[in-house]
Amino acid sequence: MATHTVYKEPAPLMDRENPLESMMSRFNIAAEILGLDDETYNVLKAPDKQIIVNIPVTMDNGKIRVFEGYRVIHNTILGPSKGGIRYDINVHLDEVKALAAWMTWKCAVVDIPYGGAKGGIICDPTKMSAGEIERMTRGYTLALKDIFGPDRDIPAPDMGTGPREMAWLMDEFSKTNGMTSPAVVTGKPLVMGGSLGRTEATGRGVMVSTLAALKKLGLNPADVSAAVQGFGNVGSWAAVLLHGQGVKIKAVSDISGAYWNENGINIDDAIAYKNAHGGRLEGFEGATPMDPTELLTSDVDVLVPAAVEDVITEHNAHDIKAKLIVEGANGPTSASADPIINEKGIMVVPDILANSGGVTVSYFEWVQNKQGFKWSLEMVTERADRIMSDAFEKVYQTSLKYKIPMRIAAYVVAIDKVAQTYKFRGGF
Ligand code: NAD
Repeated sequence: MATHTVYKEPAPLMDRENPLESMMSRFNIAAEILGLDDETYNVLKAPDKQIIVNIPVTMDNGKIRVFEGYRVIHNTILGPSKGGIRYDINVHLDEVKALAAWMTWKCAVVDIPYGGAKGGIICDPTKMSAGEIERMTRGYTLALKDIFGPDRDIPAPDMGTGPREMAWLMDEFSKTNGMTSPAVVTGKPLVMGGSLGRTEATGRGVMVSTLAALKKLGLNPADVSAAVQGFGNVGSWAAVLLHGQGVKIKAVSDISGAYWNENGINIDDAIAYKNAHGGRLEGFEGATPMDPTELLTSDVDVLVPAAVEDVITEHNAHDIKAKLIVEGANGPTSASADPIINEKGIMVVPDILANSGGVTVSYFEWVQNKQGFKWSLEMVTERADRIMSDAFEKVYQTSLKYKIPMRIAAYVVAIDKVAQTYKFRGGF
């Protein structure tokens, strides 16, 4: 008989700012600007649902570990909730709540008919076998079988998960319900209903919004330099696509280190190096190693934080030299840094706008699954680029109208859409 041990790592928020507080402080400013009524404010400030599940998993050594997982549904007034699932040792319920609310705002900013959700499991997938991860994913899906659904709650990948996990989730959900349901999850492998263009979608949206912002600033892409923090899905695609537009990428980094080349890094070389070295840049010879903390304050025109939360804080914001920050990651700037960045006159394309290309193409994947009809890459790209450009312009015009930074303008656009929908639907 297997022995039972409970595996539940503590999930400290460490010394970073609480992302929920960061999100709420921006939400509060936007609500004030809009004159949001108390009833709608109180509905929106807390998630609709928070589910905590215990997932027993037989590990390869025969012992059973119990993992703690979450699914937070922030809001569904605009449509079924949408949001990724994160596998990480630092997953924390407050973080999941903030990420779920960001999904509500993100979908509203790009005007797609979804609400917001997020999920996560406290685990270290780098120390688990594929079999253990599969059993954990299937256990999580079973525990949430009444929450997930193509018209209820539609998960997607996030940090630590990808097409492989989404395939297991889709399979488990489909078997449980006795029918194949590709639309229950997005970010699936291409052969089983994934969308063309999904892999590069978030980085592409970062590129489109960077070009739109440069235009407003009167800067020519071929004359500007950039630093990209994080060289995973978002960072590497943003870097390669910006590089393709003539932007000189002087610095890139990942968890293993940061690299600088005054003459511009050959991004194709960096990607080839990363792919040949276990997904890490460590030892990359096309640039000089630099202190990773200095990347954020390096002498470049555009800064693209595309790794983790709270890397731009009150401690380093004063030293930022970039004229433009485009947030590929979710929540890379803590609320305490906002006033400093605004004071310095730096334009910020906020996360809920800049990285919304991902959820936009996820939405296209879901539409294709429901239609039973596959779109061409050209169709996906053209439609996603137009949605990104329109959303950028709407947020930009809102920032001019209220004389507010782009970040608050994005919240104003999102909250206004949600609040108006509440007014029409009524029924409290
Ligand atoms: P990923 O796991 O593919 O890549 C993360 C990258 O960041 C890796 O290169 C990793 O080495 C690096 N990294 C981690 N910690 C770091 C640190 N302290 N300093 C420098 N680099 C560090 O993840 P991803 O999908 O690229 O997601 C990155 C961010 O973008 C996350 O905040 C995620 O929530 C957000 N995001 C992702 C998508 C998407 O479609 N993938 C969509 C919207 C938002």
